[in-house]
Amino acid sequence: MTTYKGVGVYAGRVIGPVLQMPEPIGEPAANLKLNPNETGEQAAERIKAAAEAVKADLLDRAEHASRDGKAVLKSTSQMATDRALLKGAIKLVENQGVAPERAIWEAATSFADQMQALGGYMAERVTDIYDVRARIVAELTGQPTPGIPTSDEPFVLAAIDLAPADTATLNPEQVIALITSDGGPQAHTAILARGLGLPAIVAAKGVTEIENGTVVYVDSNEGVVNTEPTDEDREAAEKYANRKPLADFDGEGVLADGTHVPLYANVGDGKSAEKAAGLKAEGVGLLRTEFGFLGYDAEPSVETQAETYKSVFDAFPGKHIVVRTLDAGADKPLPFLNTKEEENPALGVRGFRTDWTVPGVLTRQLEAIKKASEGSDADIWVMAPMISTTSEARNFANMLKEVGLETRGVMVETPAAAVNAEAILGEVDFVSIGTNDLTQYTMAADRLLGDLAHLNNPWQPAVLKMIKLTVEGARRASTATGTKKYVSVCGEAAADPALAVVLVGLGVDTLSMNAGAIAAVSAVLKSVTKEKAQQIAVEALSQISSAEAKAAARDMLPVLDELGL
Ligand code: PEP
Ligand code: MG
Repeated sequence: MTTYKGVGVYAGRVIGPVLQMPEPIGEPAANLKLNPNETGEQAAERIKAAAEAVKADLLDRAEHASRDGKAVLKSTSQMATDRALLKGAIKLVENQGVAPERAIWEAATSFADQMQALGGYMAERVTDIYDVRARIVAELTGQPTPGIPTSDEPFVLAAIDLAPADTATLNPEQVIALITSDGGPQAHTAILARGLGLPAIVAAKGVTEIENGTVVYVDSNEGVVNTEPTDEDREAAEKYANRKPLADFDGEGVLADGTHVPLYANVGDGKSAEKAAGLKAEGVGLLRTEFGFLGYDAEPSVETQAETYKSVFDAFPGKHIVVRTLDAGADKPLPFLNTKEEENPALGVRGFRTDWTVPGVLTRQLEAIKKASEGSDADIWVMAPMISTTSEARNFANMLKEVGLETRGVMVETPAAAVNAEAILGEVDFVSIGTNDLTQYTMAADRLLGDLAHLNNPWQPAVLKMIKLTVEGARRASTATGTKKYVSVCGEAAADPALAVVLVGLGVDTLSMNAGAIAAVSAVLKSVTKEKAQQIAVEALSQISSAEAKAAARDMLPVLDELGL
């Protein structure tokens, strides 16, 4: 038996055959010329036919995909037969005698480069173009279709990591678990797995070497994959398969003693807000406004911004909404804000700091938020990301005052903000702890690096202590000012049901997460009183490692096993 160990990001125990993500399609040789047996015209026809076949295949996959996947696949299918793309490739074939697969590769690459120059990182269209490029080359050369494999039976998907386009098209009825050799517990694949409620293990070195068809046991509570399931493993998987079904969220987060712990959603735009409202989120605890700016080469006008914000507010009439100002930089650069190359972008000019290098954008964004709020009866709170000092909090609060935005806050994402929470909360009304960044800065571990996934884990006792310090600072600030200062958590930690209990036990007032995770978090919170949550938090905090902190909390939460969480 071979055992692989990684970091479990969504609990579950399943047994099934492994299917590996196919090898990515490689670049055809740079000097690949047209086959002398084929005329330019014939090659051009072949390109068109391959593009049509790819389009038809994507549309067929869209039929069987989840709701979000459908939209992604449909938009990608349009890209396959994009006229400019095909024209570019055909020109290369007919005028320069380039082989069709090389021609598509070059045409798509230059098209993607143009898009990249126009838009921000990960501009959706660029991902689409690369996806389509690989598919057409595979079709032209007879290689297996790239992307998530399909099978007649459910399977465990193994991959290095998943691209955003892959994750959006993943069908949870086919894929019963995800195991990746890279990625971290706060990165993209983990967020997706939690949203889909899919057992997942990331940073499990070696899993990409498992032969296709090998039956494995995946225990994502323990972060373990076994290639020869034992009887005990089979029993555990069967118990998981017969777990109590998770009820839909009923619209109010409550503990067993009736304490209300509002459960909010993290959203990026009107569409995701509508989806969150459909899942009965109690409001929005984090609107990542930079998502609405991706793909813009220049700052959008105040009117355009206001419309985007309004579409989110409209999804939650009368409800609580926390708007976060632009968090550009590091892994989310925007071309009009992040103009210089940086050696260490995570430690660079990002978040609130961009106001120092490109002044004006933040002020106009606040005007747009104010404008959108005027036509809405939602309760709008506004906060800034990446705050390190009390004077930054004061300056931000003054900017909000000037435009007439009433409820002011900042994020706690740096150890500096956590240890200074009391002073910071002398300047603002609330804080929201971004545990994704707070973990990376506390542990000095890049949140995108799979090799550091064990450090980049919000269960790390040092991170839990940072959260405790923040809550204690907020309590003192509340007493000193005679006004309740609120503490929320809007990082991925809030979406982990066991960790959510610890956060509540530490004194966090509200939690905000990917809307798909709310039902599980709510079900577990319902099983504990405030007092019990406090005991669990004390237990977790007294451990010396993330694994022990997690195990200590889980041992005190039998409901996790019942629900298979
Ligand atoms: C965080 O850092 O936890 C957070 C919520 O912000 P983001 O993930 O957008 O950096
Ligand atoms: Mg952050």
